[in-house]
Amino acid sequence: MTDIQTTLALLEKLIAFDTVSRNPNIAIQDFIGHYLDDHDVQWLTIDYVPGEKRNLFATIGPAVDGGLVLSGHTDVVPVDNQPWTKNPFQLEIENDRVFGRGSVDMKGFIACCLALVPYFKSLNLAAPIHFAFSCDEEIGCHGVKPMVNEMSRTLPQPAACIIGEPTLGDVVNAQKGTVTYDTVITGVEAHSSNPKRGVNAISFAARIIEKLDKVAINLQHECYQDQSFEPPYSTLNVGTISGGTVKNIVPSLCTIRWECRPVPSVDYQSVLAEFFDFQDRLDQEIKALDGAASVQTKKINEVVGLSASQFNLAETLALQAANKNATKTVSFASEAGIFQRQGLDTVICGPGSIDQAHKPDEFIELSELEAYLSFLKKITLLWQGHHPEWPVVI
Ligand SMILES: [Zn+2]
Repeated sequence: MTDIQTTLALLEKLIAFDTVSRNPNIAIQDFIGHYLDDHDVQWLTIDYVPGEKRNLFATIGPAVDGGLVLSGHTDVVPVDNQPWTKNPFQLEIENDRVFGRGSVDMKGFIACCLALVPYFKSLNLAAPIHFAFSCDEEIGCHGVKPMVNEMSRTLPQPAACIIGEPTLGDVVNAQKGTVTYDTVITGVEAHSSNPKRGVNAISFAARIIEKLDKVAINLQHECYQDQSFEPPYSTLNVGTISGGTVKNIVPSLCTIRWECRPVPSVDYQSVLAEFFDFQDRLDQEIKALDGAASVQTKKINEVVGLSASQFNLAETLALQAANKNATKTVSFASEAGIFQRQGLDTVICGPGSIDQAHKPDEFIELSELEAYLSFLKKITLLWQGHHPEWPVVI
C-alpha cells in the first residue's frame, strides 16, 4: 500500500471511534497501541481519568532526550444538532474530500503520523520521533497536562514539538491564549410586588456586563497590539448569561460566563485589574444591601498561548520542510503553549483547514493529507540532518 492508502485505511478506523470528548477514549488509544505493537514501537499511556481517558506517548528510535514530538488530540467535538448529510463516524470520500468527524480536527493528522511509522523506523533515527496523542483537548486542553508533567519527570525530554492542528500546512508560531471566567451574582429573592425587599442579581449582572464591554474597548484602544493577529489586540467576550426563574420573583442568582483572549506576551491579569477593582466595589455595594449577597468571579479555565520566540528550532525546520518563508498566527486555542512552557520549541502545523473543523460534514482535502505526508518525511530528515541537500541540524 502507498502511504496515502495506509493513511486512509487508518483514518477510516480512527473516525469510526466515537471519541466525542464526553466519551472515554480508551478504545482508540488501544487501537493505536496495537498498531504500534505491530510495528515494534515503544509506547505507554498516561491516565487523565483512570479507566476513562488517557494519553498515549510513543517513542520511535532511541529513548533519549532531544526528540521531536508530533502532537495531536484524539477527542472530537459533538455532532448533536448539526445537519450532517453523512454518517459522521464513517469515513466517506467524495470529490477528493475525506468526510467524517475528526477528519480535519485532527484524526487526519494522527493517521498521517501512524502511516509513516514504517518510514520513521527505516531511517535508523539518531534522535527520536515521539507521538503525543492526548484526550480532552476540545473541552479546555486539560487532558494533555498529566502527559506533559510525565515528560518532565520520567520520559525522555524532547527538544521540539509540532502540533498538527489544521493550518493548511502553514507554520504557526504564535497563538492567543484563552482565559474563561464565571462571574456569579448572588442576590436575595423576594416577591416582585415589593422589589426593595430583595436584591436583584440580574440588575447587578447588567452592570458587570457594561463594565466588561468597557474593558473590551480599552483592550482594543489602549493596550499592546500585535499586528500579526487578526484582530491585533486582546479580546473579551461575554458568552452566556443565566439567571432568574419567573417574572414575579426578584432573582437571587445570575451567572455570566465570559472569556479573554490575550495576545501572547500581554499580562492579562494586569489588563483585567480594572475589571476586578470594579467587581470588588460592586461586591461591597451589594453586601451593604444584604450581607448574604455577593459578586464573585472565578477562573474556570486557562489555556496558555504560544509566544513567538527569536530562536525556535521547530519553526526553522518546519518552514524549510513546508517550503514556506513566513510564519503565521492563529487565534484558536490549542495545546501548543502547554508544550512551549515545558521548554519545547513549538509550532502548529497541520493538514487541512480550520474552517472545516467542528462543522457538519467536516472534511479534509485528500491533497492536504498527501502534502502533509511529504512534509512529515522532510521534517524528519531535517531533524536527523541526514538529507544530502540540507545542512546538518543535529
Ligand atoms: Zn483540534
